[in-house]
Amino acid sequence: MNKNSSNIMALAPKSSNKRETVCIFGTGDFGRALGHKLIQSGYPVVFGSRSPQTSSLIPKGAEVMSHAEAAQKAAIIFIAIQRQHYNFLTSLAEILHGKVLVDVSNNSKINEYPESNAEYLSQLVPGAKVVKAFNTVSAWALQSGTLDASRQVFVCGDDTEAKQLVMDIVRTLGLTPLDQGSLLAAREIENYPLQLFPMWKFPILLSLGLTTFFFFYCLALDVIYPYVYEKKDFSFFIAITIPNKICPILALILLGLVYLPGVLAAIIQLYRGTKYRRFPDWLDKWMLCRKQLGLVALAFASVHVLYTLVIPIRSFVRWRISDRIISQVLNNRTELLNTTNAWISDSYLALGILGFFLFVLLGITSLPSVSNNVNWREFRFVQSKLGYLTLILCTAHTLVYGGKWFLKPSSYKWYLPPVYMFSLIIPCSVLVVKFVLIFPCLDKPLTRIRQGWERNPQYSE
Ligand code: NAP
Repeated sequence: MNKNSSNIMALAPKSSNKRETVCIFGTGDFGRALGHKLIQSGYPVVFGSRSPQTSSLIPKGAEVMSHAEAAQKAAIIFIAIQRQHYNFLTSLAEILHGKVLVDVSNNSKINEYPESNAEYLSQLVPGAKVVKAFNTVSAWALQSGTLDASRQVFVCGDDTEAKQLVMDIVRTLGLTPLDQGSLLAAREIENYPLQLFPMWKFPILLSLGLTTFFFFYCLALDVIYPYVYEKKDFSFFIAITIPNKICPILALILLGLVYLPGVLAAIIQLYRGTKYRRFPDWLDKWMLCRKQLGLVALAFASVHVLYTLVIPIRSFVRWRISDRIISQVLNNRTELLNTTNAWISDSYLALGILGFFLFVLLGITSLPSVSNNVNWREFRFVQSKLGYLTLILCTAHTLVYGGKWFLKPSSYKWYLPPVYMFSLIIPCSVLVVKFVLIFPCLDKPLTRIRQGWERNPQYSE
């Protein structure tokens, strides 16, 4: 066995509780926080610093010395230093030979350098075994112990033994190591902490775009049109009426967009006769952000519910009710109960309540704490079957509410269709295609394709 592997073996978990010394280069925020956590977990810690005499604030129980001295005391060294200061490590190349160097560094921009920091470190000290880890864990979380959001530690490296060693330390610290493969993965791991809600970008930008479009559409038809033609000032609609139109419209469109990629994927698979060809990139990306689309849709639906609850206390609504009563009294005429209208009103309310209840259920089951506790079949049942039921109920809610207006010519102000019509295009298309796909002549081949059958096998003998 060579000298290097004996270094590694020395750190392998032993039956005794005594842990091997770990070295940290750099007594900055991250180095100190990591040292604190390692000491808490029973590791003797030595710090390598440029100024060992003046280093203060290092965790109690740790030693601090020069880089060369500290490196000699441990087989594993965490480099808690910014990448731009790595150069001095070349002068320690001999001492670092065969040691495991853990690169914890991050950059300030995505793909800031041509190679990852970990690959750069490995080029500077070719004799060392570089492992990338811990860069997604913050110093604050390590220090304060609030690691709930960042319990996962991505680990990658070319030396399996060295990687295993780092993963053992990760586990001992109460974290979860996730092996990401070779050092080539370091670039991606270094980009993780720099990404700003990557899966949320599309749903949020889309919602902003649609909100702006529908706001101006409603403004034109509900405020500007009556002002131009009837000299009526309905500008106060901007506060509640218009938002309460935009919210359900967006909720329904976005819910439709959650299920649209699924039916598109089914059509593509049926057309190609195989599931072994990649979907186009845009469809892949769309499928990946379905959960976020659904959650944004749920947020819009919830705001719609809140707006709807305040309708009875609105001054405009109370004025309209009393105005109608007064005009009945003045005209000595009693409006009889219109049972059809009562049915329509109660039906759309009931559909809305049921749809919203299922919508909330979908949202809850998409939370990791809940989805981790249901099996795959249960998850699919809720997200697919109950999901479609939610889409049907919410679409029916809008259809029953807006249906009567779609037929009235007066609803087409400036020849523009009523705004609710827009919300129905995507959900209705999804439901129609889904309904067609249920037919056995399509469902059977699709199920077979999804089980691996190919119409024209690529690799036939
Ligand atoms: P920091 O507070 O600035 O500390 C960096 C340390 O590097 C300094 O305290 C210093 O230690 C050493 N250093 C500075 N200039 C040097 C030079 N020219 N040559 C040699 N050593 C030098 O930074 P940090 O926040 O601890 O971050 C350290 C590394 O951890 C970075 O790569 C960062 O990306 C990564 N990281 C940080 C966090 C975080 O939450 N802070 C989270 C994940 C990853 P001495 O004075 O003892 O030599």
